[in-house]
Amino acid sequence: MKLVSAPAEILKIPTIDVDEDMDNIVQYAKQMHEIMIQSNGIGLSAPQVGINKSFFIMGNNERYTVITNPKITKFSENKVKLEEGCLSFKDLFIKVLRPENVDVEYVNTNGKIINETLTGMVSRVYQHEADHTRGVTFDTLVSKLVLNMAEKKRINKWKKDGRRV
Ligand SMILES: [Zn+2]
Repeated sequence: MKLVSAPAEILKIPTIDVDEDMDNIVQYAKQMHEIMIQSNGIGLSAPQVGINKSFFIMGNNERYTVITNPKITKFSENKVKLEEGCLSFKDLFIKVLRPENVDVEYVNTNGKIINETLTGMVSRVYQHEADHTRGVTFDTLVSKLVLNMAEKKRINKWKKDGRRV
């Protein structure tokens, strides 16, 4: 299993719902967690490791949650702009405007349907990762101008780091 970087076709394709034995998903999730830790991430979706299935993980080094067939059933009217990164876009940080809170529905690894209201960082990560399962990446959620500025910043950082650009 390897991290997929943009531009890769799989990052643009809507995923297929999980309807199989959850043991497979749990195994995938374990490997994805290793990759997430190595890359200092807080979320990682299946397409980002080359799996065209509707699930992702979110969490930290110690613990993580596996979310399958993620849905968002309600968006708060209030929106907030927060800086996001993405493991498939190394060193690219973009301020993205999104609803602050969301009501979500997903299936956990016991096959149970979970309904929750998410706020703060958890809401943000869920929205970013759920987008991945629909073939949507964060660079498409901002204007060309904002994206160009973020890309310039990234190139400057790489130049400073002595990386060939
Ligand atoms: Zn991402």
